[in-house]
Amino acid sequence: MEQLRQAFSDSELFLVTTAEKFALNESVRCIKEAREANPSLRLKAVVLNRVVRSGGKCNFCKKKATAGRAAQSFLRKRFPSAELHLGEDPGFPIMSTSGLGDFGEHVFGGKPLQLDPQLPKSRSRVKVPIPAEWPELKSRISFVIGKGGVGKTTVSAALGYHARRTSRAPVEICSVDPAPSLDDIFETAIGDAPTSVLGDRNFRASELDSIALFRNWVAEIREEVDSATTSEYSGVHVDLSFERQLLSALLDIVPPGLDEVLAIFRIIDLRASTAGKMIIDMAPTGHALELLRMPERIVSWSRLLLKSLAAHRKLALARNAAVRIAELELRARELLQAFRNSGEVSTFAVMLPEPLPDRETERLLAEMDHLQLTPCALFVNRVIFANDAKSCRRCKLAAEWQSSVLAKLSNRQSVTAVFVIRNFPFEIAGSKGLRAITNELWRLN
Ligand SMILES: [Zn+2]
Repeated sequence: MEQLRQAFSDSELFLVTTAEKFALNESVRCIKEAREANPSLRLKAVVLNRVVRSGGKCNFCKKKATAGRAAQSFLRKRFPSAELHLGEDPGFPIMSTSGLGDFGEHVFGGKPLQLDPQLPKSRSRVKVPIPAEWPELKSRISFVIGKGGVGKTTVSAALGYHARRTSRAPVEICSVDPAPSLDDIFETAIGDAPTSVLGDRNFRASELDSIALFRNWVAEIREEVDSATTSEYSGVHVDLSFERQLLSALLDIVPPGLDEVLAIFRIIDLRASTAGKMIIDMAPTGHALELLRMPERIVSWSRLLLKSLAAHRKLALARNAAVRIAELELRARELLQAFRNSGEVSTFAVMLPEPLPDRETERLLAEMDHLQLTPCALFVNRVIFANDAKSCRRCKLAAEWQSSVLAKLSNRQSVTAVFVIRNFPFEIAGSKGLRAITNELWRLN
């Protein structure tokens, strides 16, 4: 550990971000956490990637250019002592060694980026998407999953908005994403308690801080454990400090995703009485799903926790803690059952048509298949349509790469429906934005 710490204190950080709001916010959070963990870490440079310098006549690129300029001044202000480098977006992925060399000289040597435009190798024609309706919410609970920044919240809000327009059932959206953005999309402050949005009494939104929820849960258990390991035994004060330390350590190394799982249970409890539909905007990692796949993992963790107590059975040890952990496991099994059986739960996945292998989404989809939770729909967000790209060389190239991704996707058999959401030249927010996005949808298969 000492060596590891040493290695970190001799290191320099390079932060890579794009100009999008969510990416900038996440970058700030990430650096803040890194510094808290290790104050000697030095942020050497910030690379603002995928920059569009001038938009020309293209509405999409013009918007990107404006965002890029704003991001530059934001980053300069936020990280004044770090170097700031820009990487331009050529509209295609940089893959060859010579391409990488040129890109490196462009980013760190400040040379203009001059690459020969690359077209995708497999130019299998993608079928022309056909117009489609936004899907209905058939189940009581819908999970929306996808990696960070793909537009999970936008899709969640659009699903809810569409449901409110087409049926009478009340809709509740709840985000358990540690970086929630329901505020932005509904243009109003959203907190722990459900709030009506868009002036609709039956459309409510809330954001649950899953990490805080989890910390409280741990703190409560810890308290129980503490009081159980310090006690009077036949009039003698007994302090099992070794056990206590062991337990504390175990509580610190909880399986990733447990916070989200707790948040999901909490939501389900809180809303047990509502007759309406629930949409859960998940955290980007998918750890929760992985954890739910194997309630055994929750069990083996809790067994370790309890085992160290078992040696002292004679003392009134941590009974409540044991009960709570057992309860957690039972609920995980129940939820898994609900996933598998009826139409009680369904899932929607969201991704971007990124040309480079998207392993995170692949892993998430594979996880869903294992869970027999194959999404009832996969949304591919921000797809550039040929008509929108006519006058722009960069967008035309990007569209070409996107369609090679779409061609591969439409061959994917496990996903029932693949929907395509058009790339809008404006940010989706408020009634106006949600009307625009729900007014059109396209289907690939
Ligand atoms: Zn363009």
